[in-house]
Amino acid sequence: MLNVDLHCHSKMSDGVFTPSELAVRAKEKGVDVWALTDHDELSGIAEARAVASDIGLQFIAGVEISITWAGKTVHIVGLNIDEHSEQLIDGLASVKGGRYGRGKEIAAQLAAAGIAGAFEGALKYAENPESIGRTHFARYIVELGVHANVNEVFRHFLIEGKPGFVPHRWATLAQAVGWIGAAGGRAVIAHPGRYAFDQIAFDAMLDSFQTLGGAGIEVVTGSHTPDQYQQYAKVAKSSGLLASRGSDFHGPAESLFDLGSLPPLPADLTPIWHDWVR
Ligand code: AMP
Ligand code: MN
Ligand code: MN
Ligand code: MN
Repeated sequence: MLNVDLHCHSKMSDGVFTPSELAVRAKEKGVDVWALTDHDELSGIAEARAVASDIGLQFIAGVEISITWAGKTVHIVGLNIDEHSEQLIDGLASVKGGRYGRGKEIAAQLAAAGIAGAFEGALKYAENPESIGRTHFARYIVELGVHANVNEVFRHFLIEGKPGFVPHRWATLAQAVGWIGAAGGRAVIAHPGRYAFDQIAFDAMLDSFQTLGGAGIEVVTGSHTPDQYQQYAKVAKSSGLLASRGSDFHGPAESLFDLGSLPPLPADLTPIWHDWVR
């Protein structure tokens, strides 16, 4: 069975490795088909594709778009996209446009909570200043020795109800699905088990997503428990969505699952990659 991993992050967003390093690592870890899906960012794709091609790794161009749905942040992965699509490029520019100002507000909240210099501190970890996000702040707080790792930081800061959480309006669901479609790709709901929606809201989101042309849902992801693999396998089957698998790898010290290390998709699902693989 092919080892397919269609979700991970490079330095171009909030991962720790360059696109080249990730491609080599994916190959070493036994991945056969690999996608790079940086947050709201396409700039790593050309390098990732070139290195993947050199080492005989099938590459799928991807992106993970931040959206706001019913007041909460949701992530939509776009797969097999054309990264030269102007609609997608312009759309992502509008999403990223909000990150810098949000970063300033995060830093102000952290300063009030006793964490000084956080904006400059986080920027050191952001290869792209315009991609600045919570993971970069978390790395700075680890550097200060306040907590041992980024997961601990997220438990105490940066999430809803804690200092450093700034409510933010990202793209809409319709925009994200539309941009991905305009770029010839398939839209996938990322890590559905992570959203704090009740059943009615989740079903409504799924319904809108499919009406808009959304194609898939992540079933096996680094953010799900084994029970959730089964739960979202059922959702994929009953809704007719294609199933995806992705580690959501950011770096060895931060991610529970390395590239290619997750279990396979449960049987009887149609993989999102069914007509892409060589
Ligand atoms: P942002 O787009 O700036 O809001 O940052 C979102 C990113 O923060 C996610 O893609 C994860 O990499 C990271 N993140 C969010 N919540 C957590 C958490 N509870 N623990 C660790 N990392 C998290
Ligand atoms: Mn991330
Ligand atoms: Mn995500
Ligand atoms: Mn991700």
